[in-house]
Amino acid sequence: MSIPLVKLENVNFYYNHGKPSEVHALKNINLEIQKGGYAAFFGPSGCGKTTLTYLIGGIETEKTDAGKILINGRDIRELPKKALAVYRQLGVGIIFQQFNLIPSLSVLDNVALPMAFLGINVERRKKEALKLLDRFGMANYASRFPSDLSGGQQQRVSIARALSNNPPLIIADEPLGNLDSENANKALEFLKELNEKDGRTIVMVTHESWSLRDAKTIFYMKDGEIIKTEEAKSKVSVQKSLSEHLYKQLYSNATPEHLMARSLSYMLMRGFSAEEIKRFELFLTERLAGKINTESFAEFLIQPFKKGGLGLWKQRAEKITGTVDEIIENNKKIKDIYKRICGVIFRYTKSAL
Ligand code: ADP
Ligand code: MG
Repeated sequence: MSIPLVKLENVNFYYNHGKPSEVHALKNINLEIQKGGYAAFFGPSGCGKTTLTYLIGGIETEKTDAGKILINGRDIRELPKKALAVYRQLGVGIIFQQFNLIPSLSVLDNVALPMAFLGINVERRKKEALKLLDRFGMANYASRFPSDLSGGQQQRVSIARALSNNPPLIIADEPLGNLDSENANKALEFLKELNEKDGRTIVMVTHESWSLRDAKTIFYMKDGEIIKTEEAKSKVSVQKSLSEHLYKQLYSNATPEHLMARSLSYMLMRGFSAEEIKRFELFLTERLAGKINTESFAEFLIQPFKKGGLGLWKQRAEKITGTVDEIIENNKKIKDIYKRICGVIFRYTKSAL
């Protein structure tokens, strides 16, 4: 196998290094991302995802450890300043949650700006920028300003800008965080296309499981550490990975029913929007906790979305209700078996005493 595009060796990162307020934000990170890969960093807020992507993107350059951040085999923190600047301009495109467009520049100039730093002439810059905007359905907005655009439109401009210098690596830090479900789905489709059609390597940060659907490698993070890495050979294995157990590790405060609902929602509601999945999750939690019965659960599934339901066809709703009933039944059986086994052990220990 050729050398990975991104390789981290024993990377630690401390904010306020050596001060009483020191934060150990990344703990002994080791990872590899191959060329053409699509990696996702997944974990709750504060676990170090942004810090990690800033290190990989060459934005955070302070060295507070002896680890290595290798891009194409070269440690970017050992590069001379000029070479690092070249990496930032040509090596990587970053898409931010807050879009980070410059308000005083037109949409076209925002996208063309990174090319200006390379000394590309005005005409060519504008032509290329327009091409990119067109790709993301934003050519008609070229002369507008960012404040004239909706969140979804701003995000499409920021994707175009990230591509303007044709970087092989695209980093997207919570790119869906400020978008409604329709635009979030669209942005995910764009990322997938950039990976599959353009062969770009994608690194995406997210704390929402539904947006992991296209990732080929998932790094599960908690408290500055990677607690599990998964290669998704097929979508099925991604689903499996989102097991109750793993959620429990990541979100240790949630109730068991909520954890179970989270992982099940993701599997049962494939193809649904984030908003729909969230709503389903809430009701499923109630159903698993025994707070609503089969009939009310089915009713909720059939109710139109506007009325607080999911608007499913009766047949589909019955199928889901049946699956959930089966899971609840199985769970009871497992609990019964567990109790019996415990009883046997208890009797055994008692007689041994
Ligand atoms: P995430 O992106 O997963 O939410 P971050 O990488 O932003 O996590 O933060 C990781 C940890 O580092 C958190 O504990 C956060 O409070 C801390 N942190 C982030 N930025 C700074 C900073 N500039 N100064 C001090 N601590 C920071
Ligand atoms: Mg973050």
